[in-house]
Amino acid sequence: MNTIVDLRSDTVTQPTAAMRQAMQAAPLGDDVFGDDPSVNALQEKIAGMLGFEAALFVPTGTQSNLCGVLSHCGRGDEYIVGQLQHCYRWEGGGAAVFGSVQPQPLEHQADGSLALADIEAAIKPDDPHFARTRLLALENTLGGKVLPFGYLQEATALAKRKGLATHLDGARLFNAAVAQAAGGDARKEARRIASLFDSVSVCFSKGLGAPVGSALCGTKDLIARARRIRKMAGGAMRQSGMLAAAASHALDHHVDRLAQDHALARRLAEGLAGLDGVQVEAPHTNILFVDLVGPARGKSAGLVDALKKQGVLATGLYRLRFVTHLDVDAAGVDRAVAAIRSCFRG
Ligand SMILES: *Cc1c(COP(=O)(O)O)cnc(C)c1O
Repeated sequence: MNTIVDLRSDTVTQPTAAMRQAMQAAPLGDDVFGDDPSVNALQEKIAGMLGFEAALFVPTGTQSNLCGVLSHCGRGDEYIVGQLQHCYRWEGGGAAVFGSVQPQPLEHQADGSLALADIEAAIKPDDPHFARTRLLALENTLGGKVLPFGYLQEATALAKRKGLATHLDGARLFNAAVAQAAGGDARKEARRIASLFDSVSVCFSKGLGAPVGSALCGTKDLIARARRIRKMAGGAMRQSGMLAAAASHALDHHVDRLAQDHALARRLAEGLAGLDGVQVEAPHTNILFVDLVGPARGKSAGLVDALKKQGVLATGLYRLRFVTHLDVDAAGVDRAVAAIRSCFRG
């Protein structure tokens, strides 16, 4: 009854009982020697699912993106990226700090995409004045939005035509795939999206519900380079098969159920529809943004705390973010709706 409804992020999930069993039963070895059967099995599974030669299990999505960008780019190179993308804005500038790789950030369009004309204009000619443009990095989903498949085709084709490599930050790739498949084969859809890119990063610790871990997928050569960077970054783990087993379990059991999270985000949006002072963006996947508008913006300062007092956790100030996941159910969403509505009445 008094349990907290934690909508801050889909990273807050606890491993299920079945996942804990899979972790406990996992055969283990030393992955730095390449000996951990559970890590090897996971890497083969995710590479196979997404149609790549190889994959690398890493502790975090941040490290996965770092290994990806630094496997494509060297010192004095640059990558084209969106202002709001995780691998530009939310990773401490790691590619620049550790790799001397310069980001070239672009503004997003309203649908989350980067305009093709902006990408093209940002690609530098071969001239000693400029950093060498090497890579286009995109993110899907971006803030919960699914980038249209046709757009991804065009953007990656442009990059290829211009000699750039392509990286997808697919932390929530499976959310995009499930939404896009609309009841059809989400794995096939994930593979279709991934097929457009030279490398793809996916997170197991978000909607998939594993406690820890991400994977970078690419060619054998790229993954060999990434393995070296992972070691330098301190991310080469030992008996990490316990974590890999959780991720593997998530891939087997938690992909299709993402549709439930998406339905709950819609339920939350519908519950807030018509509420004075808020503007609710229809969610594509499991992330709902609620903007405070007009005089309601005056309530922003205490709002997250007021919700917390009612057992509902969210993030944001003028733009509140609610994320649905494995550990939220319809009753929890309804409690969140009631709590939010009561804050606006008061
Ligand atoms: C969460 C996230 C990451 C990084 O994941 P961590 O495991 O928290 O480092 C990267 N990209 C996107 C789009 C994310 O949402």
